[in-house]
Amino acid sequence: MKRVLLLATGGTIATKQTSQGLVPQLTSEDLLSCIPEINSLCQVNTLQLFNLDSTNLCPSHWITIAESIREHYSQYDAFVISHGTDTMAYTASALSYLIQGGSKPIVLTGAQQSIGNRETDARRNLYDAFLYAVSDCAWGVTIVFNGQVILGTRARKMRSKSYNAFASIGYPETALIRDQKVYPVLPRPVSSPEPLFSLSLNPNLFVLKLIPGIRSDIFRLLQPQYDALILEGFGVGGVPYYANQDFAEAVGAWISTGKPLIMTTQVTYEGSDMSVYQVGHIIKEKYGVVEAYDMTLEAVVTKTMWLLGQGLDQNTFRTRFCTPIQHDILLPE
Ligand code: ASP
Repeated sequence: MKRVLLLATGGTIATKQTSQGLVPQLTSEDLLSCIPEINSLCQVNTLQLFNLDSTNLCPSHWITIAESIREHYSQYDAFVISHGTDTMAYTASALSYLIQGGSKPIVLTGAQQSIGNRETDARRNLYDAFLYAVSDCAWGVTIVFNGQVILGTRARKMRSKSYNAFASIGYPETALIRDQKVYPVLPRPVSSPEPLFSLSLNPNLFVLKLIPGIRSDIFRLLQPQYDALILEGFGVGGVPYYANQDFAEAVGAWISTGKPLIMTTQVTYEGSDMSVYQVGHIIKEKYGVVEAYDMTLEAVVTKTMWLLGQGLDQNTFRTRFCTPIQHDILLPE
């Protein structure tokens, strides 16, 4: 029988009702005891890393999760992480950069309802996560939710209440799970048996969402405080050229300090292509903005933190950012 380590971190799946609303209080052992069938799939040990609403998780928690996996890597065949759904896509993306390669699947799951509720998606999701983790087709860092197996770098929470909460953005699911059977969609890639753990992050970045009429003075406020800026623009990408060029010049001034500026889009599907419109073309050509193309915001944020943690110069940052990792980016031909 395969050996699986369940790392519990909290989330709705582990909540109990209190006078102040739902609070994660159930332990990893409590979760497992709700689904005894898991014991016929594999041999499970559990580790309660923390018990938090995922709203309260920070990059330091991602490092703690990755360190626990590193510490126990040789003792287990797979890892299942129970986690709140709100920031699960960030954690899944972060782990995809912190732990690369390796033959052992790392599977995140959670639920929209507590496992203690009569009506809940928790039982299915937790069981499916183990089912996938022990299957021969399992690979990479994935989220298992509502019968979908989604790559960590491609996952996004799309619904705040429904059971079909997650979508795979711009890339197929790696597998589907129906009636307790795993149906692989993507072939398992050949990867080195030993993973590469690269466990430093610099979370000191800011995401600026463009709104119509946004002023350029925001750059001067942010510049001294942050090591990188992610601009979430409109459509295929660009910055406003109002009556003058002050917004584009503010972008140029930021980049001239040597700090990365990454352009992504507010549109969920199909990504950016800054070459299409003048408003994008000019700043990309003139200033060397880094373009995120079809990456999810969660992947853009966590990849930037991971690359910043390596202290790279601007050119190396750009090259490494555009180098695909775990299928996070599809570059135009
Ligand atoms: N607020 C919860 C969390 O992310 C939501 C959930 O788990 O569904 O921890």
